[in-house]
Amino acid sequence: MLTTLRRIVLEFSQEPELKSALLGMVGQVKKAMNTDCCSIYLADYHKQHFLLMASDGLATDSLGQTSIGFSEGLVGLVGQREEPINIANAQEHPHFIHAPEVHEDELNAFLGTPIIHQRKVLGILSIQQKQARHFTENEEAFLVTLSAQLATALSSAEIRGNLREDHEHSQRPKQIKGIPGSSGVAIGQIAIVQPTANLSTVSLQKSTQIEYEIQRIKCAIEKTRIDFELMTKKLSELILDNSLDIFEMYKQLLNNANIGDEVENKIKQGWVAESALKLIIDHYVVQFEAIEDSYLRERASDVKDLGNRLLLNLQQLSSHKQDLDKEFILVAEDVTASMLADYQHKGLKGLVSLSGSNNSHAAILARALAIPAIMGVDGVPLGQLDQQFVIVDGYSGELFIAPNDALIREYEHLIAEEFELADKVKKVEKLPAITQDGRAIELLLNAGLSSGFEQSKHVGAVGIGLYRTEIPFMNRSCFPSEQEQSILYRQVLESFSKQPVTMRTLDVGGDKSLPYFPITEDNPFLGWRGIRITLDHPEIFLVQIRAMMRANYGNHNLEIMLPMISSIEEVDEATRLINQAYYEVSSELCDNNTTKRLTRPRIGIMIEVPSVIFQLRDFAQKVDFFSVGSNDLTQYLLAVDRNNSRVSDLYDSYHPAVIRALNTIAEESSKCLVPLSLCGELASEPAGAILLLAMGYDKLSMNPHNVARIKWVIRHIDFQRSKVILTHVLSFSTAKQVHNYMNEQLEQIGLGGFVRAGM
Ligand code: PEP
Ligand code: MG
Repeated sequence: MLTTLRRIVLEFSQEPELKSALLGMVGQVKKAMNTDCCSIYLADYHKQHFLLMASDGLATDSLGQTSIGFSEGLVGLVGQREEPINIANAQEHPHFIHAPEVHEDELNAFLGTPIIHQRKVLGILSIQQKQARHFTENEEAFLVTLSAQLATALSSAEIRGNLREDHEHSQRPKQIKGIPGSSGVAIGQIAIVQPTANLSTVSLQKSTQIEYEIQRIKCAIEKTRIDFELMTKKLSELILDNSLDIFEMYKQLLNNANIGDEVENKIKQGWVAESALKLIIDHYVVQFEAIEDSYLRERASDVKDLGNRLLLNLQQLSSHKQDLDKEFILVAEDVTASMLADYQHKGLKGLVSLSGSNNSHAAILARALAIPAIMGVDGVPLGQLDQQFVIVDGYSGELFIAPNDALIREYEHLIAEEFELADKVKKVEKLPAITQDGRAIELLLNAGLSSGFEQSKHVGAVGIGLYRTEIPFMNRSCFPSEQEQSILYRQVLESFSKQPVTMRTLDVGGDKSLPYFPITEDNPFLGWRGIRITLDHPEIFLVQIRAMMRANYGNHNLEIMLPMISSIEEVDEATRLINQAYYEVSSELCDNNTTKRLTRPRIGIMIEVPSVIFQLRDFAQKVDFFSVGSNDLTQYLLAVDRNNSRVSDLYDSYHPAVIRALNTIAEESSKCLVPLSLCGELASEPAGAILLLAMGYDKLSMNPHNVARIKWVIRHIDFQRSKVILTHVLSFSTAKQVHNYMNEQLEQIGLGGFVRAGM
C-alpha cells in the first residue's frame, strides 16, 4: 500500500498542469482502491463552494462546472466536519443532494475525506461504489493518508495554478507567499532577469591551445576584479555598513589566486577556459551546498554568482538586460549580489528571488539599500511572471500578481505613509530616547551579523547591547586564532570608545553550526548549544575570552555576555574561566611600571531558558547584568521551534505567557538591583518597546535600522500611559487580544502608521 501511495503522490507532484495532475490522480486512486468512482473537489473560498475538478466515474462534462456549497451535500458535510464520512448508502442520507448532471444514480457507497493544509480545507477527495457497503477501516485509512499527502502537494500546485488560470476570478488578486527579505513596499512591472552568462549551460570541451586559454581566463579574472571594484565604489556611496563585504570576499577569492590557479591547472589538463571554470566552480558549489549551516549553505549561490560573472567576462558579454522600463521589479531564479549591483541604479524598485532566504547576500544588500525584497518564492515558474504588474510586500513576504485597483490604492497609501514616517523618524535620530514625561531609556545596537557597527554613529545608539561573535567563526575552515579575534574585537570596541560594548561568547549549536565543527543531534535547540559547548571546550572559550580581554586593553568598554545559561554552575564555571583569562592576559600585558591597567569586564547572562526566571535571585548574586534574549525565550516558553514554518503561527512574543514572563523578569531584576536589557526582536517593534518600557527595562538593543523609529516611539509616548497599557495587557489571556489592543493603542497615540506600514 505504501508503495502505491508514494507512487500516486509522486506522479501528482511531477505533473506540471494542475488539472491533468488531478485527473491522473483520480484514475490511479480508483484503480488502486478497486472502486467505481473517485473524485476531487477543490474549495473556492471566494465563492464559498467546492468545485468538482476531477473525476473518474462521474460525467466528464460536469468537471469544472458542478459545484456544491460549503454547507451543502455530503461533500459540504465532509468539509464542515473536517473528518472522513463513510456511508453505505449515500442516496438515503439526509444531506445527500441530487445533482442529475453528474450521473451518480447507480453509486451507493460514499467515502469522503477532507484535504487539509495548515488547518485550511483545500478540497475533498471522495470514492464511490455501486455496491451499498461501508468502506473498510483500511480503505478509510488509506484515503485519509492520501489526502494528507495530497494537501502538501496541492498547496504548492495551487500556487502554480493560481497564476495561469481563473480568468473568471480576475477581480481577485493572485497572491504568493515568500520569505520577507527586505522590508518596504514596491509596486510595478516585473522584469525577468536571467544571468547573461550561465555556467550551468556550459558543455565540457577540450582544447590544445593551452596558452591562449590561460590568457583568456587571466583577462576575465582581471576584468571581474575591476567590475567588483566599481560595484563596491558605486554602492559604498549608498551603503554605510559592512554588507558590501560580499564583494570583498569575491575579490579575495580572485586575488588569492585560488580560483585562478585552479582553473589554470584544469586548462593545463586540456580543458577550454569555460569548461575549466565550470569544473572548479561546480566543485566549490557542491562543497557549500553540503554544509548543514543555513548561512554557509547560502554561500553556494555567491560562488555561482562569481562563476557566472567570470564566464560573462570570458565570453565578453554585456552584464545586463537592455530593454528595461524606467522603473521595474527585478525577478530572477536566484537574485545575486552582483545582479543587484548591476541594476540598482537603473530603476530597480523591488526584487523577488525564487530561491534564497533572508541570509542571501541579495537580501542583505537589499536591506542596506532599502529595496523591498521577497526571497524563496518557491514553486512559481519564472516565465509566468514576466511583464506582470505586481505589488511586492517586503514586510510580509507577499507578492500580489495583477492586483485590483482597491489593493493598489491601499498599498499606495501605505507607501505614502511610510515616506512620511521615515521623514519624521529621521528627525529624532540624534535626540535622546526619552518619554514625554521624562523617563529615559537607552537604545543599543545588535551587531555582528550582516549590519555593521560603523553605521551606528549615524543611528544614534549609545553602545552595542549584543555583539554576536558567531560570524567570524563561520566564514572559515578552522577556529580563528586569538590574534585574529582580538583584532576584530578591538575594531568594534574602538569604534564605540567610551560606550559599552556587550560581546556575547560563541553561541553556536541550534541552527548555527560551524563547517569544521559539525554537530548532529535530533533536537539541536535542546542540545549542545551556546555555553554548553564552550564550557565543554574551555580551550575554545579561553581563546575567545583572552582575545576579548586583549582587545579591551586600553579601551575599557567591554562587557561579556553568556548565552543559553540554564544553571548556576554554568555561571560559576564561566566566571572562573573568565577570571583565569583576565589574570593571564593582565600579567602578559600590564607592566608593573605603567599605569595602564586591564579592566575586568562586567559579566552578564542572557535570559533565554525559562528555568532561569525562577532562579533570578540566585543569578543576581553572581552576575552584573541580565539581558533577555526574547527570540529564544519565546521559543522555549512556548515550545515552538523559531525556524519551523509549520508552527510559525504559534511563535508569538505577545503570547500572554511570554509577556507575563518578561514582566516577572523586570520586577525581580529591579528588586535585586540588577540592570536589565532585552536584545531580541521584540525590542525593535513599537508595541514591544512600549510594553518593555512600561515593565522597567533600562536598555533595549536592536538592529541599526530600527533605532531611530523606536526612539521616535519612545519620544511620543508617556511613561505613565505605557504603564496603564501594560496593566491591560497583563490581564489578557490570548495573544490575539494583546495584538488587537496594542494596535488600537498605537492608533490612539498616533503611531498607527507603524502598524499599517508593518514597521
Ligand atoms: C535571542 O535569543 O533573543 C537573541 C538575541 O539571540 P539569538 O537571536 O542570536 O539567538
Ligand atoms: Mg538566543
